[in-house]
Parts: sequence; C-alpha cells; structure tokens
Amino acid sequence: MTDDSAIAFVDLGAQYSAYKTEIDHAIHVVLDHGKFIMGPEVAQLETALCGFSGATEAIACSNGTDALLMIMLAEGIGPGDAVFVPSFTFTATAEILLLLGAVPVFVDVDEQTFNIAPSDLERQIERIKREGNLKPRGILAVDLFGQPADYARIEDIASAYGLLLWDDAAQSFGGELGQKKVGALCRATSLSFFPAKPFGCYGDGGAVLCSDEELASTMRSIRAHGKGGAKYDIVRVGMNARLDTVQAAILLAKLPHFEAELKARNAVATAYSGSLSNVVQVPTLLPEARSAWAQYTIKVPSSQRDAIADRLKQAGVPTAVYYPKPMHLQTAYRDFGEGEGSLKNCEALSQQVLSLPMHPFLPESQIEKICDAVKASVAAV
Ligand SMILES: *Cc1c(COP(=O)(O)O)cnc(C)c1O
Repeated sequence: MTDDSAIAFVDLGAQYSAYKTEIDHAIHVVLDHGKFIMGPEVAQLETALCGFSGATEAIACSNGTDALLMIMLAEGIGPGDAVFVPSFTFTATAEILLLLGAVPVFVDVDEQTFNIAPSDLERQIERIKREGNLKPRGILAVDLFGQPADYARIEDIASAYGLLLWDDAAQSFGGELGQKKVGALCRATSLSFFPAKPFGCYGDGGAVLCSDEELASTMRSIRAHGKGGAKYDIVRVGMNARLDTVQAAILLAKLPHFEAELKARNAVATAYSGSLSNVVQVPTLLPEARSAWAQYTIKVPSSQRDAIADRLKQAGVPTAVYYPKPMHLQTAYRDFGEGEGSLKNCEALSQQVLSLPMHPFLPESQIEKICDAVKASVAAV
C-alpha cells in the first residue's frame, strides 16, 4: 500500500495482498478435494490452534457467538442460573445466556483496563446470593479490545464462590497473561474469526479452546446436532455449528503470519501511546499482559468525544465507538440490570471511548498523520 492512500480503520485488502498466493492456493485445494463440510483442514486447524495457544483441545465452529453457546450448553447452563458478565462488551456475551433461559448478571468494569472489575464482581455475587432467586454458576469474562482480563484475581473469586470461569476471547486470541496465552487462561475460551478480529477468516468462523477432554467431547457432539457414537444416534440437544472447510483453509494459511501481525499491532500501539499519552488517556495494560490489540481505544472527555470524532473524520481519520451503550442499558436486557447509574464505569466509558485505526499494515507515515490529527482535534474542541 502507498502512504498517501486513504487511512483504513482495518485493512483486510492489504492483508489479502500480502498472503494472496498462499490463501488462493489453500482455497483451491479445498475446491479440488470437495470436502466442504468437516474436510481435513478443520482438524488441521484445530491442531494448529492448540499448538499456538497451549490449549490441549480445540473445537472449530461457525462463529464466536456459537462458540459461547456451545460452552454454555456443554456446562448445562439454563433456567435459574446466574452468569456474571461485564456490561461493557459486545451483545453476544449476554445474548447467549438469555437464549438458554439463564440470566446475565451485569458487572462493572475497571476504568483503566475496560475489563470486568474484581471488586464489583464480588459485590454482584454477594447480591445474587443474598437475593436467593438465582443459582450463581459462573463468570464469563471478556478480554476487551484484546487485553486479557485479570484472571489471577478472577480465578480466586471463582474458586472462593465455587463458580466456573470462562473467557470470551473473541477480541484477544494472540494475547497473553504472564507465561500463558489466551486459550490456556480459563476452563474454556471462545474465539471469533469474524474478518475484522485480529485473527479473522473470510466469512464467519469461531472456535472453543479448552484443556478438558470430556468438556471438549461434549462440545464436539453439540457442534453436530448432539450426535453420539453412531451416525444418527442423538444423545443431547445440539446445534449445527460447524466451521466451513474453506474458512479453515484460509485460517491455516494465515496462522504462520499471525505472530508477526501481533508484533506489528503492538508496534502501532506503542507508537500511538508514545505520541498521544500527554494529549488523551491512552490504553493501560496489566503489567503481565500482552494485548492482541483488536482495538486501540483512547479516552477523551465525554462532552467532546463526538466533536473530536467529527474533526478526525474531516481529517481523513476513521474512528469507531466500541461501545456506545453498555448492556445493562440496552432495550433487550434492561430487565436484567439495575438501570441507569448502577454501573458507573461502564456508563462513563461508553461516553468517553474512541478507537483509532488499528491493523498490522498501518504505515508509519499514517500513524504520524493520525497522531497529528488527534492532537489538532483535541486542541480545537
Ligand atoms: C465479535 C465478538 C463476539 C461474537 O463473535 P461472532 O463471531 O461475530 O459471533 C462475541 N464477543 C465479543 C466480545 C466480540 O467482540
């Protein structure tokens, strides 16, 4: 790409150009062998995902939402169960619980990391226990914008209350916490391969990573309509949640490049923070964390956020707001939250956050142009 081309928020075209030969070849191999459903590339991808993450089991599936649903079905989450989720997240995290008749209990997030706040988590668990209407079953943490949640502290809370702990890692595959990679931080981890995620395919795709053989085998059955050992033997209620072979082939072709992409994303983030830390609030990482940098998200005063975004747009810098409304205030989920004012950090962040262009092919000249535009916009409003 040339440096004077338009700035892209995410540049899938540049990525395809870079790996075109390998990706085209991988797709043609599938077209030739014709095993479009559960072809050999699916199992190869699962093995490769385990190798990359350190998980011992991988179950490729249709998308990140179905990955979450498969985990919850396999764990037997259903009516009467409470699952604790951050309110500052994508809708899928809460949606799948309600589809199963379970209740999402919305928890506030840390204002620095944007991830579930351990102190509020304890408060909400105590509240649900005290009210006595729901059975607390688990914690579904989210690694927002690519940074793993604070699993050391969350795990302590989970074990103190006898709760299961899962990771919605739709944005964080490739991230790390301490010596462990995302996929090996929790009992089960869901991934999304939506094209714009750090590790994306060319359509919908997802996976569950875990290190429990029995849980994995239950999820493999759920992925294929709840089948048992024999072909039309149905042993449980399941889904059609398979990953297309073509998508598996594309992901296999991309995986060898992923580590270099993560480094490039990290370099973009470092350059942004170096230039902008005196002007806006830049992202904060836990000392032990490596983010996959799905998003680079700054905080600006809520009264100025939209004006800054407008000025950036005029300067040719695309931005996005993830997310303009926390889940506990959404029309569909309102009945399950405690209303406006109940989760202060989620509500404040939804008015303050602004995500800047982030992808591994962002040229230095564009990073500079973006930083200059942010400084100018902040100064002008
Ligand atoms: C993208 C995303 C999902 C859903 O993934 P899909 O593949 O689009 O179904 C779930 N949770 C979070 C936090 C996400 O960002």
